[in-house]
Amino acid sequence: MKSPARPLRARIHLDAVLHNYRYAKRLAPSARALAVVKANGYGHGAISLARALASEADGFAVACIDEAMELRESGIRNPILLLEGVFAPDEIALADRAGLAMVVHSRQQLEWVLAARPSRPLECWIKLDSGMHRVGLAPGEFAGAHAALADCPHVGNLVAMSHFARADEPEHPYTERQIAVFGQALGGLRIPRSLANSAAILAWPQAHGEWTRPGLMLYGISPLPDGHPLATPLQPAMTLESAILSIRDLEAGEPVGYGGRFVCDRPTRVGVAAVGYADGYPRHARDGTPVAVKGRRTRIIGRVSMDMITLDLTGMADARIGDPVELWGTTIPANEVAQASDTIAYQLFTGIGRRVPLIHE
Ligand code: PLP
Repeated sequence: MKSPARPLRARIHLDAVLHNYRYAKRLAPSARALAVVKANGYGHGAISLARALASEADGFAVACIDEAMELRESGIRNPILLLEGVFAPDEIALADRAGLAMVVHSRQQLEWVLAARPSRPLECWIKLDSGMHRVGLAPGEFAGAHAALADCPHVGNLVAMSHFARADEPEHPYTERQIAVFGQALGGLRIPRSLANSAAILAWPQAHGEWTRPGLMLYGISPLPDGHPLATPLQPAMTLESAILSIRDLEAGEPVGYGGRFVCDRPTRVGVAAVGYADGYPRHARDGTPVAVKGRRTRIIGRVSMDMITLDLTGMADARIGDPVELWGTTIPANEVAQASDTIAYQLFTGIGRRVPLIHE
């Protein structure tokens, strides 16, 4: 249940998502691109995003079968990849009926696929552990798994994939090592390859392969260190905005909020905005975390509460109750809020609370 009068909302700019998808395709022009819309489109609303991208997207990627079924039930016909494959053998029948492609990252999943009786050939993406050391077949297992799937009459298209651990560090040699491990494991095999997440699309062209998998960059945020020139064209897709609920003037020495963490060091005008950690605003936001009031940058002062935050309005004599407050979006980059809160933009987006309306426009 959302309260229509509460001023908090996340505005989702679908034109920005389309722009960012096209940009990802321009950066890797010979690859097709799976738009990664898991976790409800990184909190942006997977169905609306998929509908906005449907006529152009080469496919979508989600984490699990429920996320894929939600897209199919809303009429999405594009290819869909289950990034973690199936979690139990009976999910293969569902995937078959819905025409889903699946990652095979373990020997157990390989056995399930080989033993399945699908109505049409299953598309499988064989995931190799090239160095993330989380999931994936070991390099020495790859050739055998590939041969078994290639010989299996009910298996169709095959893609070889892997995932990078440090592609967001453009100077770090670990990505080169992962690319080399992947290449060696595949040997001379002629099979489509997929390695690149957003960071690799932006910074590691040698890893573009035949399929890229952009996630964060679709939402207009760069995973690379600030200022990377190729990140400049990205357009933020979410503006989280609220409004001023209350304003008071405090003397120097007065504390603000729970625990009195912030103490005014001068006469201070304090504004309160309707957003809190129950809405997904990070509770660990430090004093000084940026926020914009009527388009002007100011800062958070005092601890974030469940439903409210306190802001510094000193020097804003014209500030009024009802004035718009941007928590992140085009004026305040989500990465800045994340850095000031010891987290990452991925977590800010996916943590948007249930009571925040998503307004797709
Ligand atoms: N590919 C895989 C296997 C993933 O798990 C993810 C996201 O975690 C992505 C691609 C997209 O990554 P990013 O959002 O960094 O582009």
